[in-house]
Amino acid sequence: MELTILGYWGGYPTRNGGTSSYLIESDGYHLWLDAGSASLIALENHIDPLDIDAVLISHYHHDHIADLGVFQFTRQLKGIGENRAPIVPIYGHEEDKENFDRLTMDRVSKGIAYRENEAFTVGPFEITAMKTLHPVPCFALRIEEVNTGKVLVFTADSGYLEGFIPFSKDADLLLADTNFFHGMENHRVHMTATEVGRIAKEAQVKKLVLTHLPQQGDLALLKEQAAAEFGSQEVLLAEKDLLITI
Ligand SMILES: [Zn+2]
Ligand SMILES: [Zn+2]
Repeated sequence: MELTILGYWGGYPTRNGGTSSYLIESDGYHLWLDAGSASLIALENHIDPLDIDAVLISHYHHDHIADLGVFQFTRQLKGIGENRAPIVPIYGHEEDKENFDRLTMDRVSKGIAYRENEAFTVGPFEITAMKTLHPVPCFALRIEEVNTGKVLVFTADSGYLEGFIPFSKDADLLLADTNFFHGMENHRVHMTATEVGRIAKEAQVKKLVLTHLPQQGDLALLKEQAAAEFGSQEVLLAEKDLLITI
C-alpha cells in the first residue's frame, strides 16, 4: 500500500500546509483518512475526488473534518450526469450523533459507524479501532492490507497510552500524533516526540512518521527527540505530498 501525506499540522493550517489528512492506496482503491483543513485541494493534486472509494474519520475536531463538507459538495456538484459518482461510504464513530449524522448526505455519502475492537473491512483493508485519550471521542486506527499483511497504524489525536504498544505491535508504519516537544509528557490531549519514539521502539514498528506537528519550534529537534527513543530505526517528519510505500 501507499501512503501520501496531504496535511500534517496540528490544530490549524499555516504556511501553505493543511491539517491532518492522508491518502492510502492499495490496488487501485483509494481510502481518504481524515479530511483536515486545506486537504481537498491537496488531494486533488493526486487524484480526482470523485475517485475516492471510501473516507475514514478518526474524530470530529475541525482539524480532521474541515474539508469534509466541500468534499460532499464536490461529489454532488461535479459528479453529475455521466460523471455521477457512487455514494461514498464515510466511516466514523457514532459517539457524537450530531457529527455522525453529517457524514450522510442524500445521494452523495453514507455514514457508517465503526466501534472499538470490532474489526471492519473497507475495500482491501481490514481495520480495527482503539479509543484514544482526547477531550472528545477519538479512535486510533490499525489498517491492514489484507493481501500482503502490511500494517499502517494511525494514532489519531491522543495523550500517551500504554495501549498504543500492543495496538501498534509490529506495524510496518506508525503515523503518530507528535504535537509536542520533549518535556510535555503525560499531556491529556497530545503526545510528545519522546512518547511516540518510545511506543515505536516498544511495539517494534519498522518506521515512524511524526505528524500533527507543532507550528512553532524546530522540527529537526522534534525528529531528534523521537529518534533518540526509537533508536536507529527510521523516523520521518510528515511533509506535504510525501509518498511512502509500505
Ligand atoms: Zn487534531
Ligand atoms: Zn483532536
